[in-house]
Formats: sequence, structure tokens, C-alpha cells
Amino acid sequence: MTIRKGTEALPLFEQYPQLGEKLPHVSLGEFPTPVQKLERLGAQLGIGQLYIKRDDLSGRFYGGNKPRKLEFILGDAIRSGVREVMTFGGAGSNHSLATAIYAQQLGLKSISMLIPQPNARYVRDNLLMSHYCRAELHSCGVESESVRNMALVYLATLYHLIRRRLKSGRFPHLVPPGGSSALGVIGYVNAAFELRQQIANGEMPEPKYIYVACGTMGTAAGLLLGLRAAKLNSRVVSVRVTSDKFVNPRGMAKLTNRTGSLLHSLDGSFPSFRFSAADADIRHTYFGRRYALFTKEAMEAVSLMRKCEGIKLDGTYTGKAVAALIDDAKNGTLRGKSILFWNTLNSRNLPKAVSDLDYRDLPRCFHRYFQEEVQPLDRDADR
Ligand SMILES: *Cc1c(COP(=O)(O)O)cnc(C)c1O
Repeated sequence: MTIRKGTEALPLFEQYPQLGEKLPHVSLGEFPTPVQKLERLGAQLGIGQLYIKRDDLSGRFYGGNKPRKLEFILGDAIRSGVREVMTFGGAGSNHSLATAIYAQQLGLKSISMLIPQPNARYVRDNLLMSHYCRAELHSCGVESESVRNMALVYLATLYHLIRRRLKSGRFPHLVPPGGSSALGVIGYVNAAFELRQQIANGEMPEPKYIYVACGTMGTAAGLLLGLRAAKLNSRVVSVRVTSDKFVNPRGMAKLTNRTGSLLHSLDGSFPSFRFSAADADIRHTYFGRRYALFTKEAMEAVSLMRKCEGIKLDGTYTGKAVAALIDDAKNGTLRGKSILFWNTLNSRNLPKAVSDLDYRDLPRCFHRYFQEEVQPLDRDADR
């Protein structure tokens, strides 16, 4: 594993070389990710110009939207000389898995504080793969988004932080849920500059709308800021897939502004924008009853995408985003427009060895995901 300094060809750094000199960055992924036309799905939905941004291919070992954020976050961890990172998520969190995979590649130990969630096959895969990458896994809190539960998670975190401090003499580097710190969000500011280059190369016309699943808002906030800075007029349609405590217009404006301020403070030539809640276009009606509970509409989107294009979506995130796109297409609001679906899901296969692992090697609190049935809408879906 070679750790390259971040001044190489990131489109954001090409325009703002000072950012390249100052920002921590390790190269983890393979960029640019392809833009592809979805001919059959577009024809089916009556959208002449429907495209997909293949961030599912963003990393050679594990793709999706997390590698772009982790390039900055883990770059920062390495620069500050820590040996351990600690992060948070649902039991089947793609973010905590991505952190485990790329931390291990960089020789860092990763610790995941995992909150119970509805069961699904991908939860099992992600837990086994995290274990395979030698992540230290802890279960904390209960399956709820209440304030009381957040307090339980904080207490468990505090306990493990102190334990690690006593053991290794240093606190682990904390990575927020979804990697959506201002630093992580810069990965998606850069992604907007990458898209601008692809538009300039004629790979697709400038999209009118970009549909994206929105869980901790990092991807959407980065795109919002990046599109403005890159002088693209595309509108981000953020499809909420977590509680509105975590995804809401004010929070989106705040995260976008914090990221903008960080970039402006590092390089004065990066414009200082001011976003307000009105700049966030958040769709609330595709969430369903709770985080990681699949919906009928999401599973229909998963199945339509597989049938038309052979591309895999999921019931927690991307299926819900495409369900919103399908509804808008049916209402006729997308007719004659150029539309981009930003795929945030990993599509790389996990190593074969992972499916041969015995779940009983995991901490006991995670065995239930292997012993209990998966949720009904996952049971019925074919892989
Ligand atoms: C983490 C994740 C998201 C959410 O992205 P945010 O930046 O947290 O809003 C969307 N889709 C998939 C597949 C994810 O794993």
C-alpha cells in the first residue's frame, strides 16, 4: 500500500492547488468513476437522458460513497500520527465496514460502535467482513433514535475511549457516523468537480437533477457545495433514508457551510458561500417506518434497475433514492430533462473467504443477526 500525498490529479486540487498542499489526503479509490447512460431504464421511465454515476466502483476493494470521504478522514488520521480510529453506525453499516477495510490497508486499527438495526442479509455480510478485517466490534444502545438511546451510545463510547487510552496511551481518532465531518464532505466537493470534467468531455449533458440517497447528509452537502463552486446548475434531490433528526434542511445548510468555511479558510480563493435551509431539496416520503427497514417502493426500484440494467441497488439507501426518481418520472416532471442518479452503494464482491467464516467467532451480541430471520422484504428478494 503506497500512501501518496494528495496533490495528484484531484480535480478540486487542480483548481485550488493550495488545498492540495494543505489538506490531508490518501489515495484509496479509483477516479473518475464512470458516468453511464441508462438506456433501458430511461426508456421504461420516459426519460430520454437518464445517467448513472458509478460510485459503486469508487474503490478496488470496496466502493460506494465512503471511499471519497475516507481519503480525507484517514489522511488526517495518518497525518496526526494515531494508530486507531473509532467510528459509529448501524450493525450493518457500510461506513463502518469501509472504515475497517481501508484502515486495515493503512495499518490502522479500527473500532466500530454499532447500534442495533433491522436484520438483512447485507448486515450479516458486513459484520463478517468487518471481522475479517480485524475491526474491534462493539454493540451499543438499542434499536431506537431516542435521546435516551443517544445517551447510551455516548456512555458506551466514553467507556471504550478510556479503555483504549489506558491500553495504548492515546485516544483513538474519532470518525463521525457516515464519515460526514467537514473534512469527509470535501470528498464530495471534489466529486462535483470530477463530474464537471466529465460533462466538459461530453460524457453526459449537464444534469437538471441529481438524485442521491441521504443518510448523514455528507454526500448531498458536498455535492451542493461542489456544484455551486464548479458553477454547475444541477439541483441535488436528497432522498432521506434516516430519521429527520439526522437529515433536515437546517442541518444540511449547516454542514454545507461548515465545509465551505473550512475550504475558504485553507484557500482564500475558494469562494465563501452562504447556504440556507431553502437550498436543501430533501424528499421525506420514501423513508418508510425506520432506518434500514426496506419499503415496497424501494424493492420495486431495486428489481427494475436489476432487470433493465443489471445494476445492484439496496433496500436501505439506493432503492429509496431511485423510488423517488421513478415517482417523479411518472409525474412527468423529468420529461425532456437530463437526470443523474448518483449510485452510493458498493458493488465490489467481498472476498470468497468471508462467506466461509463462522459467525460464532463474532462477539456474542451479533449472533442474533445470523440466528434470526431477515426482514420480510429481504427474504422475498432474490440476490
Ligand atoms: C452511507 C450511505 C449513504 C448515505 O450517504 P450520506 O453521505 O451519509 O448521506 C447512501 N447510500 C449508501 C449505499 C451508503 O452506504
